[in-house]
Amino acid sequence: MVHVAAPKFSEGRVRKAHRGDLAAIQSILNAPGNLDKLADHAESALLAAMTSDDQAVMVLDLPDAGVAAFLWITGQSSSAPGPKIEEFGDVQPGSGHGAELLDRVVQDHMARHPTRPLWLAVAADNTRAIAFYERRGFRQTELRPAAWHRRSSPVADALVMQMEAAAAPQLTPNEAKVLSLLRMSNTPMTAYQLLDRMQQGGGVAAPPTVYRALKGLEDTGLVRRIETLRAWVPLTSPAPGVVAICDDCGSVRNLATPDLFDSLHLRLAAEGFAEARRTIEVRGRCGDCAASKA
Ligand SMILES: [Zn+2]
Repeated sequence: MVHVAAPKFSEGRVRKAHRGDLAAIQSILNAPGNLDKLADHAESALLAAMTSDDQAVMVLDLPDAGVAAFLWITGQSSSAPGPKIEEFGDVQPGSGHGAELLDRVVQDHMARHPTRPLWLAVAADNTRAIAFYERRGFRQTELRPAAWHRRSSPVADALVMQMEAAAAPQLTPNEAKVLSLLRMSNTPMTAYQLLDRMQQGGGVAAPPTVYRALKGLEDTGLVRRIETLRAWVPLTSPAPGVVAICDDCGSVRNLATPDLFDSLHLRLAAEGFAEARRTIEVRGRCGDCAASKA
């Protein structure tokens, strides 16, 4: 048995997978809802990944329910193309278990390899998965036509998404803290919620600290203020967009709409109107909430 230097994951519900987790992982991979997944991965491939220096298989292990999510990462020690999230899934989509595991793995990766971007590929028509990864700080970097092979249909376009590391601007410790709190949250946070969380963490933050950090992050395009909520969200795309706010779950998406902004700009310019700031926010119900109410 090869000894692997265990990554420094914090204690708790996330741990490295072992042979006894194989059945649980296979059942997540083979669940009928996981139409994006590749054909079955051989047990031998998963077992090899568990003991490889270059790969890791992590699970979220709940005291009452057992393995609730797993994540398989490859290319950890080799150079290009760098660490990749090969497969990732949870038993109960929407439960937050997958998000908990992914956030933990991403945090650990960023702490150990701040200059190596973590990347993954997702079917380009899987808008829910793309929104999920965007909320967690991944950016769309490349579209690969007809590159995705999946069970439900022969091929699909693959969208490559990347967690920017090296390209990240130099942040002050408070900016980094605020950004990480926003990225961990599924919903926008107000300055006072942020302050509260920072003080819980043992910090001695005061309101001006939080506002200064938010201003700095806004200037670098990493966060956006949602005017109608007086709250902030992390931005995953630098392109200006329309903000779609779900009144049911509170989730917020920034939707890039270049055509809309182009025509708006032309219309305003025709009026001789000098634009200072644009805010287009739409309230309604997100796809997930609409589906669950259907
Ligand atoms: Zn919703």
